[in-house]
Amino acid sequence: MGTVPIGSQILDPKADFIVSSPLKQGPLRGAAGVWPRALKSRALLVDLNASNLFMDRLKQLFEKNRAWAQEINETDPTFFQRLAAQQAPEVLWIGCADSRVPATEICGMDPGEIFVHRNVANLVVHTDFNSLSVIQYAVEILKVSDIIVCGHYGCGGVQAALGSTPFGLIDNWLRNIKDTAHRRADALVGLNEAELFDRMCELNVEQQVANLSYTSIIQSAWSAGHDLTIHGFVYSLKDGLLNNLEMSVANVDDLPEIYRLG
Ligand code: ZN
Repeated sequence: MGTVPIGSQILDPKADFIVSSPLKQGPLRGAAGVWPRALKSRALLVDLNASNLFMDRLKQLFEKNRAWAQEINETDPTFFQRLAAQQAPEVLWIGCADSRVPATEICGMDPGEIFVHRNVANLVVHTDFNSLSVIQYAVEILKVSDIIVCGHYGCGGVQAALGSTPFGLIDNWLRNIKDTAHRRADALVGLNEAELFDRMCELNVEQQVANLSYTSIIQSAWSAGHDLTIHGFVYSLKDGLLNNLEMSVANVDDLPEIYRLG
C-alpha cells in the first residue's frame, strides 16, 4: 500500500479538508484523520487506497445531501430561509450517540424543531460542561418547555457497563451506569439477562432525569417561573416506538430534599 506526499494532486485541490494515514514522524506521530487544508504544508503522508475509499464515501454523502436539499426545496421552497433566520425549538433532546437513534427522525419532526445533545448512553453528569452548556442554552436562551432524556433498549453503553471488560477511557464515563446498577440493585433482583439489560436501560434514563432535575440550571428556571418539564423515554430499535417511562419531573417539590436548591 503506497504512500505519497500530501502535496501531490490525488485529492480535489478545492477541498477544504484532506485525509491522512497515521503519521510516521514528528510531534503528531501516530495521529490520523481529516485535517484542515491549511496543514497540508506539513510533511503529511496520505494512504492512497484508504483516501480513495474515503473520497468515494464522501462523494456519496454529498450526492445524498444535494438530493435531500433539492427535495426539501421542491416541497417547501422557504424552508431553508426560515431555518437560517432563526431556530425556535420547544424541546431539548438528550439522547444516546448511537447512530440508530436520531432524534428528529424518530419523532417525525423536521430540522429546527428539536435541540439535541447526544453522548454515549445519554448521560447527564453534573461535572460535564458539554451537556451543561447545551442544557443552559436550551433553557435560558431558547426557553424550551420540555426536555426529553431518551435512552434505547439494546444500548451498547449500558451493556458495556453491566460487564467487566475494560474499554479504556470510556470506562470512566460508563462508571455512572455501574453506580446506578449498584444503587438500584433491588430493582434488578430475579430478572433474567435480557430483562435485566432492558430494565437497566430504563433505570439509566430515570437516573439521568433525576440528575438533570438536580442541576442549578433547571432549579433556577423553575424558581423563575419557567414552565419546564423533564421526561424519560426509552426507544425500541426493534419496532421504532418510544416507551414513555411516565416519571416526568416539573418542579422542585418532586425532588428529594437534599438536592433542592434555594
Ligand atoms: Zn446507546
